[in-house]
Amino acid sequence: MMPEAPPIALHCEGLSKSFGAVTPVGDATFHVTAGAILALLGPSGCGKTTTLRLIAGLDQPDAGTIVLDGSVVQGPDVSVPPERRRVGLVFQDYALFPHLDVQANVGFGLSRRNGRAARVAETLELVGLSALASRMPHELSGGQQQRVALARALAPEPRVVLLDEPFSNLDAALRNDLRNDVRRVLRESGATAVFVTHDQEEALSLADQVAVMIDGRVLQVAPPYDVYCHPVSRVVADFIGHYNVIHGAAMGRMVVCELGTVRIQDAMSGPVDLYVRPEALQVTSDRNGQGVIEARQFFGHDQLLHVRLDSGLVVACRVEPTFIAPEGVRARIQINGDVVAFTRAGTDARGRRGAPVTPPAARPRLA
Ligand code: ATP
Repeated sequence: MMPEAPPIALHCEGLSKSFGAVTPVGDATFHVTAGAILALLGPSGCGKTTTLRLIAGLDQPDAGTIVLDGSVVQGPDVSVPPERRRVGLVFQDYALFPHLDVQANVGFGLSRRNGRAARVAETLELVGLSALASRMPHELSGGQQQRVALARALAPEPRVVLLDEPFSNLDAALRNDLRNDVRRVLRESGATAVFVTHDQEEALSLADQVAVMIDGRVLQVAPPYDVYCHPVSRVVADFIGHYNVIHGAAMGRMVVCELGTVRIQDAMSGPVDLYVRPEALQVTSDRNGQGVIEARQFFGHDQLLHVRLDSGLVVACRVEPTFIAPEGVRARIQINGDVVAFTRAGTDARGRRGAPVTPPAARPRLA
């Protein structure tokens, strides 16, 4: 028997919000299953924080519905106030109460019911701060303060925890440690979480599902691998990671391009742009290859080669650190990995040429 799918903990449908002429959220739809971590990922100003504020009830949407654990908290005739939504909040700047010690901060949202002290102790243990229960916020590091903020959000057992750029005030090494800790804590507590970030690596490494938000709309919600390897549109592909864009001609599931013939997932026909990751390009030194190694950046764990193909297009290839071939040497490039294809700009949906198509440019789209 198939295991039952987890229930949906949060569902946002057609959320829209404008401030005067600015519309940070326009028809955003997504959901999160119970116990899952969803990253709301998008460029600065795309409406991520506004979306969190709408879910928390801190702002009112102009349109749309929000359902938490099966109850409508926001809809055409419903607007449950923030304090009755049972939503936990963690902000970028921790926002602890400076005059309360750690345990009082964590216990703040708990009623004076029996078991309050035990719940505080349990939550502090979960975030690894039991020993610091009597410290004041100013006596804690940034990472410790953020753990307290997480404990405070989790203590009342919220229906969903919302985290707004929770790691952005921390230095790189601490950020990585805290990310792992936060993931573990969320897992162990069974909490459903939505966190906002503009950092792709953070979203891909921490979340179960990534919702890509651009210009106020959620364009794709999928597990990290799918968002990275199978972006649903050119806009998503242009945002997530780095791609080489190579012109090709599609015939069914095959695309012919200057690097050979590759398979694509869905049948297409006519001129396409093939989006190929640098790590999907294999390089070997070969006098009869299709291009010349023009530049090399060595990073230790790998290196990035820029290879100028005979057409003039420069492609970036991520290769092993042990690959040795000096600049100026000819190389053979093979596509060996996932690729995605989009109908080329200037051609219609059936692949026929419309407006003039830009010729293959010497245009690396890479850092
Ligand atoms: P960032 O990653 O930079 O925090 P974001 O994706 O979280 O960005 P929002 O903070 O939601 O984006 O803001 C989206 C747009 O809405 C911005 O142009 C912002 O200036 C505007 N905005 C947000 N809140 C308000 C407000 N209360 N009044 C007017 N404009 C606002």
